Amino acid sequence: MSYLFLKEPYAIECRDNRINIINCKENKYEFMLGLKSEVTSDFLKRLSLSQIIELEELLRESNAKEKAVIGKLMSQDKYFELVDEITPEAKVKEVVMTEANRIGENFANTFGPTATYKVYKKIMENLSSTSVVLVGNELLLTNLIDELQAYGLKEIYIKSDKGALKKQPDGVKTVEDIEGFIQEHQKNKKHFFYAFDQNDCKDLYDFNELMEKYNTAWSLLAVTETDMIIGPTFFPKETGCLECNVDRDFWGNKTNILPEEAKIMAGLMSSDFCKIIGDMPEAIVEDISMTIGRMFMINRKTLNGINKDMVRSFDCKVCGAIVKDEDKEVEYRECN
Ligand SMILES: [Zn+2]
Repeated sequence: MSYLFLKEPYAIECRDNRINIINCKENKYEFMLGLKSEVTSDFLKRLSLSQIIELEELLRESNAKEKAVIGKLMSQDKYFELVDEITPEAKVKEVVMTEANRIGENFANTFGPTATYKVYKKIMENLSSTSVVLVGNELLLTNLIDELQAYGLKEIYIKSDKGALKKQPDGVKTVEDIEGFIQEHQKNKKHFFYAFDQNDCKDLYDFNELMEKYNTAWSLLAVTETDMIIGPTFFPKETGCLECNVDRDFWGNKTNILPEEAKIMAGLMSSDFCKIIGDMPEAIVEDISMTIGRMFMINRKTLNGINKDMVRSFDCKVCGAIVKDEDKEVEYRECN
């Protein structure tokens, strides 16, 4: 029996009635083919998901024309690899490639079909070198972990508002003390999320001060009685902070988050996360981030959304600064 694999560094893109083989390393299309038959398109979809394909079975099911197309594809042995049996190595490869395609699929949904593989590579680099720390409401956090893991994020830490999670997701580590964590990971790239359900407003604003103090980027997810709130994402010393943008009165009373709402918020936040970490190409960050310097508010009854822009207040007691005339050096006032 023979089985077919897609070789690295190639990826298959099936779009409408076309198949494109992309060289991910050189960031270019190499092979394009139009297709009309269902058997062939199914065959290619399975290949694009890096499933192992059993050739005998496939050819039995195909008519002459389909056999010709598949034959043409297989003659491109630059892209494909035929093996006689499924070895343990081949099995491992199948799992790894499927994972890579799943991440690629998320990426395509986020950035659309025009995104190039160069950007994709950059994002993957950023994701694999960034640690993420999640603080706050458990329901929001567990949903966010699911989403972030789907993007291939590996280093995830959690500090839930109830201490340890009832069911700790795989591969997630616990953080006891946020300040200690930051000091320990001074040199690493990291991003914090705070999921807020009005549990304790003081905690949230203390957290904001801590992030400013250690110059650490973070994003807020929150609910009020009327709205789901995605963002803002704060970059200390660049954007304003929470203190200078949102009054404590704004948050109102503690409210229950519905599971569907947690899903929506986690989905939106994680798709934005790819655009806010690391040194992303400016065109991407500035144009399409939903949360940098703004919060996206979705009404919980009508599901209508509005953007609310944040501004930096130079007399903010947390992030306010005096800009000297000569060297534009920024000095920070002490917190009260
Ligand atoms: Zn501020």
